Amino acid sequence: MLTDNHGRPINYLRLAVTDRCNLRCFYCMPEHGLDWLSRVELLSYEELLRISSLMVGMGVNKIRITGGEPFVRRDIMQLLSSLSALPGLDELTITTNGVLTAPYVSELKRLGIRSVNLSLDTLDAARFFAITRRDEFAAVMHTLEQLLKHDIDVKINAVVMQGRNTQDILPLVELTRELPVSVRFIEEMPFNGDGHQFSGIAWDHVRIMEEIRQHHPQIIKAVDGPYSTSYNYNIPGHKGNVGVIAAYSRTFCGTCNRIRVTPTGILKTCLYDDGVLNLRDMLRTGNNDEEVKRALLYALKHRAADGHEAERLVKSTASIHQSMAVIGG
Ligand code: SAM
Ligand code: SF4
Repeated sequence: MLTDNHGRPINYLRLAVTDRCNLRCFYCMPEHGLDWLSRVELLSYEELLRISSLMVGMGVNKIRITGGEPFVRRDIMQLLSSLSALPGLDELTITTNGVLTAPYVSELKRLGIRSVNLSLDTLDAARFFAITRRDEFAAVMHTLEQLLKHDIDVKINAVVMQGRNTQDILPLVELTRELPVSVRFIEEMPFNGDGHQFSGIAWDHVRIMEEIRQHHPQIIKAVDGPYSTSYNYNIPGHKGNVGVIAAYSRTFCGTCNRIRVTPTGILKTCLYDDGVLNLRDMLRTGNNDEEVKRALLYALKHRAADGHEAERLVKSTASIHQSMAVIGG
């Protein structure tokens, strides 16, 4: 088993395949978008596959494809198909905004993808437009229907923001009454590509849970999985469940089993670090698999203890102003 210098198992890779996106969520990027990466800057299909299979060979058994929006990348289904055939990979999942996803759902099911994270911050079309700056609410809801119809586990990710969507907390919880979905409320993080001023959060995990508990006093704490980043709860009589992710408070670092690779091939061993290894350069300058593995192991054995330490160690403040689409949320 692959472990870091703090004894934490590392078995989960989050692979961001593009920085591009068809939404402009204000907490992730500015209205005009980002200075998009050029095609040569992005990892190619072959490079994504090589990095993935190297890491699976070292002990990673779960990969999440994220971005940017994975489905704006033209070779995404080819990549998913190849990854799904990797021996040793037990779980392949995707985080998507759901705008382009619906037509691919039956193929995802066929590839063995059992669970998808769908980002949806509101059940109100006007607020959806205000948050994402695009009129795509119906398309996202259609994806939700398709995922449920194909019996794929759905986790709905909702970022909670003062003055934007706190009125959606209870309707999103209500969704779990009849639908077998996990709704997970996420604290807002500073990675908005300077889309707006960030001055801390008014709604942390404690306040979000207080709001839910007030209306659902019968809510019960569930047993969280060993590496869960969410605190999970069941409400008696509801088919789904709810959770809260303390992404800004960073309460889950002690059991963090995940590493990230950005769209340009930078390895991040913490969401809050500014990159610890340039895998793309290693691949493009002819390093063999053993050399890449050695460099990966070194990075894993020098991992920050938690997100606060990683943030203190960053070399420039630029990473804090980065967009989540470049980090790979
Ligand atoms: N485009 C896809 C999507 O939105 O699902 C995948 C990439 S997106 C960067 C991954 C997740 O990061 C989404 O659930 C999104 O809500 C979350 N996210 C983006 N910016 C964030 C921020 N500043 N704070 C908290 N979560 C954020
Ligand atoms: Fe796009 Fe996802 Fe960022 Fe929204 S959160 S702008 S959907 S990458």
